[in-house]
Amino acid sequence: NKVIKLVSRPKEMPTLDNFSIEEAQIPSPAQGEVLLRTLYISVDPYMRGRMNDAKSYAPPFALNEAIAGGVISEVVESYAEGFQKGDVVLGNSTWTLYSVAKPERLTVIDPNIAPITTALGVLGMPGLTAYFGLLDIGQPKEGETVVVSGAAGAVGMIVGQIAKIKGARVVGIAGSDEKNEYLIKELGFDAAINYKTTADLHAELAQACPDGIDVYFDNVGGAISDAALSLINKNARIPICGQIALYNLGKADVGNRIQSVLLVNTALMQGFLVGQYAARFPEAVSQLAQWLQQKKLKYAENIVDGFEQTPHAFIGLFTGDNLGKQLVKVAEP
Ligand code: NDP
Repeated sequence: NKVIKLVSRPKEMPTLDNFSIEEAQIPSPAQGEVLLRTLYISVDPYMRGRMNDAKSYAPPFALNEAIAGGVISEVVESYAEGFQKGDVVLGNSTWTLYSVAKPERLTVIDPNIAPITTALGVLGMPGLTAYFGLLDIGQPKEGETVVVSGAAGAVGMIVGQIAKIKGARVVGIAGSDEKNEYLIKELGFDAAINYKTTADLHAELAQACPDGIDVYFDNVGGAISDAALSLINKNARIPICGQIALYNLGKADVGNRIQSVLLVNTALMQGFLVGQYAARFPEAVSQLAQWLQQKKLKYAENIVDGFEQTPHAFIGLFTGDNLGKQLVKVAEP
């Protein structure tokens, strides 16, 4: 067995030195438990917050302990009712090759609905985040303009496509021309802006949104969000999903004071956590799966090969290495 541990807390950008890859024993499942072989590991931006020793909605990862998160695995031994050897399951597991789990923390993935990796992407946490943040808080209407930052990532590309399904004009903001070309040509976004190369993000965004912005889905925060918020319309809705531009800042970020913009536009800005919507996950998964089957929704995955690559794949989230959901492939089912 092997395990990846957090051995030091990143100060700003995480580095490979913050992690160690160690040999470990294969754990023995007790009665009522299953032994799992890891197939795919999800790396997610929120994990960066858990690497700080600070209070947040999820507790900090302990130093010198295995990191844990969303994982797809195969049951190799089952001493639990309802689970068979060979079942592919989604769970919250450690970054290890083998782990034990209790069944109440696992869901069996049906490979007939969609490829199993979608359980960590479009039909999993990122897809649900897009669905509830956009539809519950953003509430886009036909003909409105929706702007999404982090647009070519796991959450962002689903947000933009759901907004298109709802009849909105959709503008994405992402960090490379290749990503933006994908958003427009493959996913039907109306426009996409490269925030890394634009000379004037505000001006380019204003041009792409001639009728202003009705919904700004914020995945990144910082200067990108300052530009978007300066263009909002009356009664705009602003779901605050993530602030990835701030996660590696060693100091507090100082930006525009936006309260008066919200005031004069009677706009709604609301933070949310996907877990708040747990009771409605089945409804959302079935709608997302239906859109997939109807080809109204597409998704991309960036899959790196090899357990040892997990820290590297995680760090890549902050340099924009991924188009779509970033996963690590550990083994074949
Ligand atoms: P992504 O797949 O979008 O990966 C992260 C992307 O963020 C990168 O590809 C990169 O793309 C972009 N990025 C990285 N650094 C910066 C920066 N400094 N400024 C602007 N963009 C940057 O990740 P997810 O889809 O999983 O998550 C997207 C956001 O949603 C994150 O902020 C995350 O924390 C949040 N989130 C919130 C949830 C909730 O419940 N509220 C649940 C899930 C995610 P690029 O090339 O465009 O720079």
